[in-house]
Amino acid sequence: MNKDDFPILQETIYGKPLVYLDNAATTQKPAQVLEAITYAYTHFNANIHRGVHHLSQIATKAHEDARAKVAEWLHADNPNCIIFTKGTTDSLNMLAFSFGEAHIYEGDEIIIGMQEHHSNIVPWQMLCERKKAKLRVVPLREDLSLDIEAYKQLFNSHTRLVSIAHVSNVLGIVNPIDEIIAFAHQNHVPVCIDAAQSAPHMPLDVQALDCDFLALSAHKAYGPTGLGILYGKEELLKELPPAEGGGEMIEHVSFEKTTFNTLPYKFEAGTPNYIGSYAFAKAIEYLEAIGMKRIYAYETELTRYAEQQLSQIPGVHIYAKGLPKQGVISFNVGNIHPYDVGMLLDKQGIAVRTGHHCAEPLINYLKIPGTVRLSLALYNTKEDIDRFIAALRKAITILT
Ligand code: PLP
Repeated sequence: MNKDDFPILQETIYGKPLVYLDNAATTQKPAQVLEAITYAYTHFNANIHRGVHHLSQIATKAHEDARAKVAEWLHADNPNCIIFTKGTTDSLNMLAFSFGEAHIYEGDEIIIGMQEHHSNIVPWQMLCERKKAKLRVVPLREDLSLDIEAYKQLFNSHTRLVSIAHVSNVLGIVNPIDEIIAFAHQNHVPVCIDAAQSAPHMPLDVQALDCDFLALSAHKAYGPTGLGILYGKEELLKELPPAEGGGEMIEHVSFEKTTFNTLPYKFEAGTPNYIGSYAFAKAIEYLEAIGMKRIYAYETELTRYAEQQLSQIPGVHIYAKGLPKQGVISFNVGNIHPYDVGMLLDKQGIAVRTGHHCAEPLINYLKIPGTVRLSLALYNTKEDIDRFIAALRKAITILT
């Protein structure tokens, strides 16, 4: 793991070396990814799938090779299960619309968790409003982990889908998705996993997990912005209608009737982000060269170290303290507003995020204005954590 692979990490902020601890929001990009973007625009930029000309064929191959790379990374059955979207939000909206059209009727129920990101709440809420269906929310235990017993109690004959975050973007808690999926399947209910905060940090095997759908964002996994993935089991995707109409997703169009393309193109209306997919494949190659298992082990230890160091500072309250976390820690200091802490850390070159982290229901449940959140990536080090801790101590001295 090498910081030097990430050019932006050489930047200084207010004259101080950057310590970037806002990786749950977006990760920085290795040189290979940055170079891939320039290379693609310089050498083979052409719209894909439709062209007989040379450049278009190269661009098409790059895009389809990238799809195959994502499929291999996630251990998907085959590349047809991989739909390129704009990001996790887009993937979940697409699924909510499409699944909703096919399977949701008045009185049906969809289960989500209390700690979801707005992306895994609002699309389902909109669907429920459209179809007069009901959103059911899994509560949290006192320690802020998902209440799995309560989850099981939510199932009834109206339950149609479960959509749950693998890792909470606020608390860092890793949800027991094996158990969540197994129980849903015993009840013949499919499960969608929001893997925005897990895919970049741990090995994922969609076939071993047996999840029915999974969403992630390339930009949180060292890839470019504006690209995401919706994985779905092929037999399930086949029976869903397209969410958007336009070019690419059609077989034939007439004013009387349009027939749709096969998977995965049925879900990819318009010119796709083929430069982004090419660059994302380079990000995945970068991750694979290090090894997802190694990244997982390294970040787990770094998270543990950060929590241990943080808990030694008087007045710091860590949310879900002591629970196994993956790369994300939320905290507050006494009654100090998280924004003030974040601002004083920034002045010392430390980038963290403050606020509700797009999870307002969770923050309201906690009855707080927000949290300070540090989130780790493979390029962070114990020295980064030590600098963060020293800066936090200084901020607290100024604010108290
Ligand atoms: N889900 C989770 C758990 C997230 O953390 C995020 C972003 O922070 C999203 C969904 C939305 O991702 P994007 O904004 O890339 O669509």
